[in-house]
Amino acid sequence: MTERYAIDEHPNWTEWILPLLFVNGERPQRGRGGSGRIEVREPGDSRVRDMLLRFEIRCITCGRWIRPIRERKVSTPTLASLYCTLSCEQAVRPGCSRNAAAVNEQQRVIALIHGWTDPRQPSLFAGVMP
Ligand SMILES: [Zn+2]
Repeated sequence: MTERYAIDEHPNWTEWILPLLFVNGERPQRGRGGSGRIEVREPGDSRVRDMLLRFEIRCITCGRWIRPIRERKVSTPTLASLYCTLSCEQAVRPGCSRNAAAVNEQQRVIALIHGWTDPRQPSLFAGVMP
């Protein structure tokens, strides 16, 4: 059996992971949660940003420890954006992100994101780190 440690099992999930997540490129699907990319707002605090980039969960497909929050590689560092994925990088293990378990987990976390009502304005988190 594959070892499991989902992103919402992290002790700080509610406090500083979930409030920063949002969904982009969503396509509604019949009878299920939407699909889309899970994006991460800039936390506006370099210590939080470092923690986000370092914590680990297990790949939902193979159980390998992965860092779910990653930074897109772009030529201009100030435009680098964070995103969240729940399985191995395609370059590392191409099968993991296409597996049904990964699709289901993605939909489950998207549903958690939509269930979250944050009283704070998104603009508070939109600042780009200096
Ligand atoms: Zn994997």
